[in-house]
Amino acid sequence: MEPNVTADQLSTVTYQLFSDYHTHPQGHRVQPYTQGLLQPWADSARNIALSDIAFTDHDRYHAGIDFDEIDRLQERNPELKIRAGIELDNDPVHSASGRKWIEQHWNKLDFVLGSVHFLDRADQMFDTIPGGAEQFEGRDIDAIYADYFRRVREMAATGLVDCLAHLDLVKIHGYRPNAEIDAIVNETLDFIRSRNLAIELSTAGWRKPVNELYPADRIIELAIEKGIPFTSASDAHSHVQLGDNFPRLAQRMSAFGIREVCVFEKHNRNMRFICKT
Ligand SMILES: [Zn+2]
Ligand SMILES: [Zn+2]
Repeated sequence: MEPNVTADQLSTVTYQLFSDYHTHPQGHRVQPYTQGLLQPWADSARNIALSDIAFTDHDRYHAGIDFDEIDRLQERNPELKIRAGIELDNDPVHSASGRKWIEQHWNKLDFVLGSVHFLDRADQMFDTIPGGAEQFEGRDIDAIYADYFRRVREMAATGLVDCLAHLDLVKIHGYRPNAEIDAIVNETLDFIRSRNLAIELSTAGWRKPVNELYPADRIIELAIEKGIPFTSASDAHSHVQLGDNFPRLAQRMSAFGIREVCVFEKHNRNMRFICKT
């Protein structure tokens, strides 16, 4: 009798990822860009054989971003492509000024991530751990999912983002919908495709209670069918997290038949083959 063989085992070629397009040099507060802050990220990239990274600090910390310091870092590390980016979210308090800043600096930015961190509470990101799970307790989870993906479409519609981050972050605490969400996901992916945006494959979900890649396998399958391109991302909040779990991600991508990721330069997207090992 034939043993059961998984897609993972069938793919004999393994791949090595070379790009991380979701990183937070400032962490969780304003820390102005300096060579001292940024160089460890370039060193980490070199250590794990990454050749293309994007800094994507949260828009509420835009005061710390310094394009001259990024240019200087690029000069000091010519073998590494360093992209100037930012993560714009739907913060009810700060995102208005974040959007304005992005509009003003659009031509200096290579890459803008769009994300949804807020549901109906203005005072707390729903992905806060612990604490954010309160926003799900005793609630209609189907309605929360529908509301979340509506907000993702709103973010895609801003015209200010190149790529959507952690597309199904709403699952972070492990609350799952009862209803089939294919229709909502399809509508969202069709909208993302119509806007010609990318989505990221983020290993951050493996560090969270849900312990699952962002986005889920079903969403990746649908995105592949629709021809939506992917970036590879860790959402590192420290240079030691850069490229976190990338060998595992490469294996998953190989199983899905994903052979390329996209990179961005001044918002222009190019596809690059993932390296074979
Ligand atoms: Zn985020
Ligand atoms: Zn992030």
